Amino acid sequence: MQMSNPAERKPHAVLIPFPSQGHINPFFTLAKLLHLRGFHITFVHTEYNYKRLLNSKALKALHVLPDFHFQTIPDGLPLTDDAANVTQDPLSLCKSVRENFLLPFRQILAKLNDSAIAGLIPPVTGLVSDFSLTFTTQVAQELALPILVFSPASATCLVSVMNLRTLSDKGLIPLKDESYLTNGYLDTKVDLIPGLKNFRLKDLPDFIRTTDPNNFMLNYMIDMADNMLKASTIVINTSDELESEALKALSSILPSVFPIGPFPSFLNQSPESHLESLGSSLWKEDTECLEWLKSKECNSVLYVNFGSITIMTPEQLLEFAWGLANSKRPFLWIIRPDLVIGGSMILSSEFLNDVSDRGLIASWCPQEQVLNHPSIGGFLTHCGWNSTIESVCAGVPMLCWPVSADQPTNCRSICSEWGIGIEIDTDVKRKEVEKNVNELMLGEKGKEMRQKVMQLRKKVEEEIRSFGLSYMNLDKVTSEVLLKQT
Ligand code: UDP
Repeated sequence: MQMSNPAERKPHAVLIPFPSQGHINPFFTLAKLLHLRGFHITFVHTEYNYKRLLNSKALKALHVLPDFHFQTIPDGLPLTDDAANVTQDPLSLCKSVRENFLLPFRQILAKLNDSAIAGLIPPVTGLVSDFSLTFTTQVAQELALPILVFSPASATCLVSVMNLRTLSDKGLIPLKDESYLTNGYLDTKVDLIPGLKNFRLKDLPDFIRTTDPNNFMLNYMIDMADNMLKASTIVINTSDELESEALKALSSILPSVFPIGPFPSFLNQSPESHLESLGSSLWKEDTECLEWLKSKECNSVLYVNFGSITIMTPEQLLEFAWGLANSKRPFLWIIRPDLVIGGSMILSSEFLNDVSDRGLIASWCPQEQVLNHPSIGGFLTHCGWNSTIESVCAGVPMLCWPVSADQPTNCRSICSEWGIGIEIDTDVKRKEVEKNVNELMLGEKGKEMRQKVMQLRKKVEEEIRSFGLSYMNLDKVTSEVLLKQT
């Protein structure tokens, strides 16, 4: 480990995200923002993800950056053959987090302590933990370290999670039987949750769609909520402009909640050139698509990407494919190697010939750069929270196809709260895709949404400027929590 100047006694933050792309990215931005504020950073990856980051060239094996170091822990999952490109199943990861992470995390902190005693690094002064890693609270207590709990998910999602017990006490969840998934029950309004006006059960994170009171994910979420009640400070990758009602509701349950985002705009405004070479993409980014976009007219291209975890059936892929082809609009479609269940890409030569003059398919891209490209006029998304706020920060309206986790909740914010998106039915059909693509890219609705999202982007940007609310919040939690002991 490279010796920083111990005499400087920098504050030292250890950051640990849940090990999936949608958590790693905002954590990495937060790490960079803390580094910019003078912190020594230790960033904890799983061994599996660290290997993928080296393969994807997001990280260079031998890089040595002063005051920005990595540590790894085993994730406890069986090794896969194709370690470079496979999304780990979120359920298995959650189970493994619970069983396997505590001990190696303790060991890392002991190792860091030894290095600090030897004068090689500054002593650890605070932890920043993902809201879904409850074991970190215990470690922080054992070592008497301050801990900042970070939510890469939205405030609205957090309100939902904090109210799972209420929903259960009122008998709304778990579902009585499987028929409740399809008999219209999920349209039931859940007005009993402050901060979630006119919410239907189907707008809540999909963990509630179970008939089993012992369902692992449902109980994982309930435990997470209980753990957050114990946290002294929680920070969220959102802003007051985006989610004021939900934030207000959260503050009444959790007294120290701070919106500190959204990060995409934040980093646009705070480039830190010597950290630019440090990336967090688990897949190798195809940058040729940026060249291709240059050849397209302003606002003319639909960008299609379903994130890092979503999977779909071959039939769904075909409906999207022919919907896109029949819309006749130019599109950039990112198809991850593991997007389609069964693995193989089944796009026919008939389809590929049909779209050859206006469609580009790639396997992974630098999404923020793509969204901010002037040629992009719309985003067909699965509504992951990062994708959602990255689209807002780029001023791009959305077509929404939420699949799981918090995506239905985010879709509701996009379509009903902010009015900057159109939802596509879960049972996707090519006709509907074609119609909505044209509405978004060329229709009146699309035009209105583009104006609205540009206004929202402007308001959100205000909050991350110096003296904006999110900016000030980040300063506040940094000094009051992470710098408490230094
Ligand atoms: N992403 C990317 N390139 C891609 C696809 C995704 O850089 O081709 C990034 C995207 O910018 C976002 C993250 O991966 O930061 C995905 O997070 P999100 O919350 O949107 O969805 P998840 O993958 O967790 O479902």
